[in-house]
Amino acid sequence: MTIPFNKPYMTGNELTYIAEAHANGHLSGDGPFTRHCNALLEQQVNCAKALLTHSCTAALEMSALLLALQPGDEVIMPSYTFVSTANAFVLQGAVPVFVDIRSDTLNIDESLIESAITERTKAICVVHYAGVACEMDEILRIASKYGLMVVEDAAQAIYSSYKGRPLGAIGDFGCLSFHETKNVISGEGGALLVRDEARIQRAEILREKGTNRSRFLRGQVDKYTWVDVGSSYLPSEIVAAFLRAQLEAGETITARRIAIWERYHAWAEGHEAAGRLRRPVVPSYCKHNAHMYYLQLPSLEQRTGFIERMKAQGVQCVFHYVPLHSSTAGLRYGRSHGDLRVTDSVSDTLVRLPLWVGLEERLDQVMATADDVLLS
Ligand SMILES: *Cc1c(COP(=O)(O)O)cnc(C)c1O
Repeated sequence: MTIPFNKPYMTGNELTYIAEAHANGHLSGDGPFTRHCNALLEQQVNCAKALLTHSCTAALEMSALLLALQPGDEVIMPSYTFVSTANAFVLQGAVPVFVDIRSDTLNIDESLIESAITERTKAICVVHYAGVACEMDEILRIASKYGLMVVEDAAQAIYSSYKGRPLGAIGDFGCLSFHETKNVISGEGGALLVRDEARIQRAEILREKGTNRSRFLRGQVDKYTWVDVGSSYLPSEIVAAFLRAQLEAGETITARRIAIWERYHAWAEGHEAAGRLRRPVVPSYCKHNAHMYYLQLPSLEQRTGFIERMKAQGVQCVFHYVPLHSSTAGLRYGRSHGDLRVTDSVSDTLVRLPLWVGLEERLDQVMATADDVLLS
């Protein structure tokens, strides 16, 4: 029986809440389950406003709209990320400027950001890879020096923190994902976190098709109308009902993932000492959420061989990312800042091991199989 790379974890309460949403007869967005999830998130990640969206991609697109970008404006970001990080800004006519990553955390190299800034730079979009924080103190310092906004692609980073501050709630906007491959899930889903009170109202309007419906629902205006640009970014109550069960189990999910991560990390230590691989690096002031466990192998050939042989022995492992700067769309819409040597090398050599709640009893099998592959 193959051990899959990912298996969505269900808490057991999802169907109860979905039945409740069904009984409520309120199925479109912004009903009681959505409001409950927004409030839970605000409390769990300590931010002024959380707004459920239908994906992290949608939350990133909302951030791009909230930045009021003009065609040709630039947004600094890593190339080592998922396509949505760049697409959201390109849709507004902006140019992603790709900066290399650090070789330890694989997050954007903050020491390269300042030299990538031009008169057209409007924002820095950081990605907290594997749920480990970027160097936010330095990034916020640069942003404030040059008057730039900071967007956090915290798709992988729910419940992680940087020097005690929850990720997603540090920058101007934070974007979470509840895609089924993430820690807390609703199939497809996401949230936009807004730190500054002054930007909340516009975020609500964008999310509600450019209307002031949110104010209307709170009784703050007596009819709602078209007041700004916008789109439909909100999930249905069915999705929010599912998500409520997951958010309520957030602590348990994180603890169980951390326990698996720690077992992998202890196991891989010997292989690292013998020079067969490199393990993830987590700075002491970063609390991570065990979103993933990855290894860096010495070469592309060894990585390819590792994935094939693990698969032959029934364990599914995957790699990523294909860098954005050298992709077809990245070349057309973006610009590279210097060479992206670390990005290229990591994208050739990194492999992710299975990590999901419920894997515990088969973890020894994964590690024994990996021993076998690494030692032969
Ligand atoms: C998963 C992911 C996304 C996209 O999330 P969706 O909810 O699927 O839109 C964006 N950025 C990063 C870094 C991701 O890992």
